[in-house]
Amino acid sequence: MFLLGHSCWSYLFSKATGRKLNVNLPAYLALLSGILPDFDIYFQPYLVHHTYTHSLIVIIPIVLVLTYFFGRLGFAFSIGILSHLLGDFLVGTIPLLYPFYPNSDVGLNLGIPSLADTALEIGAFGLVLLYAYRNGDYKLVLKPTRDGLLLAIPLFALVTLTLLFAGDRSIPLAEFAFSRRALTIITLGHILLSGILVLGVLQGFRWYLGNRRARPTTSVDASSAQPLGVWDSLGHGCHSPLFHDEERQEERGSEGRGAVNKARIDEENRQEAAGFIFEKRESHRRLNNGAKTKSLNPWSVKR
Ligand SMILES: [Zn+2]
Repeated sequence: MFLLGHSCWSYLFSKATGRKLNVNLPAYLALLSGILPDFDIYFQPYLVHHTYTHSLIVIIPIVLVLTYFFGRLGFAFSIGILSHLLGDFLVGTIPLLYPFYPNSDVGLNLGIPSLADTALEIGAFGLVLLYAYRNGDYKLVLKPTRDGLLLAIPLFALVTLTLLFAGDRSIPLAEFAFSRRALTIITLGHILLSGILVLGVLQGFRWYLGNRRARPTTSVDASSAQPLGVWDSLGHGCHSPLFHDEERQEERGSEGRGAVNKARIDEENRQEAAGFIFEKRESHRRLNNGAKTKSLNPWSVKR
């Protein structure tokens, strides 16, 4: 099976497993898990392709370790890895017990490329689009998110593994990709999937840039930011009592210091802090009402 089928199958299997187990496996991991066994291509010629990484002798301990350390998430991810073996088993064979039994290849050998393989790959791709629409993962290509940026990982793997595989076997990729009808369809599927991932990564970059720009002001929360706008329009720079403390210290610096001024400053700060907290509560109440959220929040007060 090609990488298109592997990543789509693993997405479907691992996502469905995660859903059953009440964990949300991120899309980039769901797509990546199914291509992992073909990572042996990165290590050629030291690691022969389609040997260790396609054997249950190696994969089962990896599944156990992932499940032990990452629990349900690790298990859902492992199902994605195992789906690779199933895919290769259907269209070809897998060395099930390699290296203990090097000739233990088993599989239905439906053929690659073949009509069955094309149907399995394109069918899975279609189902992924449908499933991503239903579970909300389609938003990764529409909105700036961190997970969008992480789609660069399966995208990188898809592109580099294809190039390395073709390079290693001296396959003229462009010619091979469109040499038969089945291959043309699968190639178009690869291009489409890669294009979708590129869109997700671009949205991820938008998230990254927005996040970087927003970082210096993240210490100002939404509740204090709201009245700040009005406050600013009245000519005040900052709403913080701490800031005002410095301001007042400066103002009164020339008037003569002493305990009386200090007490006045403290009293003003105390009153302003009380007002500040009240405004915070008010703005939170407004925000909560607006969002129709019933959840408890630390600022909510009974009146
Ligand atoms: Zn494989």
